[in-house]
Amino acid sequence: MALTPARPGALDRMQAPSHSHSHSHSDTMPATARKPAATRIERENTVDEIYERIYVAILEHRLQPGTKLGEEKLADIFGVSRARVREVLARLAHEQIVELYPQRGAFIAKPSIEQARDVFEARRLIEPAVLRRLIDTHTPEKIARLRQHQELEADARRRNDKRAVIRLSGEFHTLAAELAGNSALARSMRELCMLTCLTIFLYDAPTASSCRNDEHQLIIDAVAKRDRARAEKLMLDHLDHIESSLKLDNTNGDVDLEAIFKG
Ligand SMILES: [Zn+2]
Repeated sequence: MALTPARPGALDRMQAPSHSHSHSHSDTMPATARKPAATRIERENTVDEIYERIYVAILEHRLQPGTKLGEEKLADIFGVSRARVREVLARLAHEQIVELYPQRGAFIAKPSIEQARDVFEARRLIEPAVLRRLIDTHTPEKIARLRQHQELEADARRRNDKRAVIRLSGEFHTLAAELAGNSALARSMRELCMLTCLTIFLYDAPTASSCRNDEHQLIIDAVAKRDRARAEKLMLDHLDHIESSLKLDNTNGDVDLEAIFKG
């Protein structure tokens, strides 16, 4: 299987920063794309597209944990039926990114502190395995891909584009899992990255950032040298740094409103 062709990678998105579009692409599709034979593909693309928009909005912290995702409103925004919106929401719910409540509707998940700790525990088990597999299946192209991604991150940091930094740093981990070539690992990694992203939103110390860029670079260097032990150690340290930058000791998980509105 190719590297998730349905989901454009960070490199593609980099060129077109996602602003909140308010109309579905299907509105502007040429009539030929609407012929019956294309219907199924068109439908899938649209579900994928809406899913991707929501996914990126969460990654970029434009959609906050706990936000209500009204079916009717989303159907309106994306120019699709409510049934199609429900399909997207079901997929997001399956990935634990959205919580569905009878009568009340769909909400962006708000991981608890316990869930946040579980996410990091799972990442500490999975990500060294991802790197081991990446080293076993090592090719110059894969290393180049990782370096390219890391360069985009560094560039976003130089431009002080915080949204892009948060998204790209999360996507580094997903990209590594995709390149490692195990689709189950890659799928788990996507979910865990998304949950980490929601966790960072909820429990981040105001000045902290998600991933330190130089640490990604060191990890790539170790993978390029096929140094398993070092790559694994660097990844575990990296995850510790992210987890310890969060305020997961705060027993009630309250957001520091004062800090948010001060600056
Ligand atoms: Zn990272």
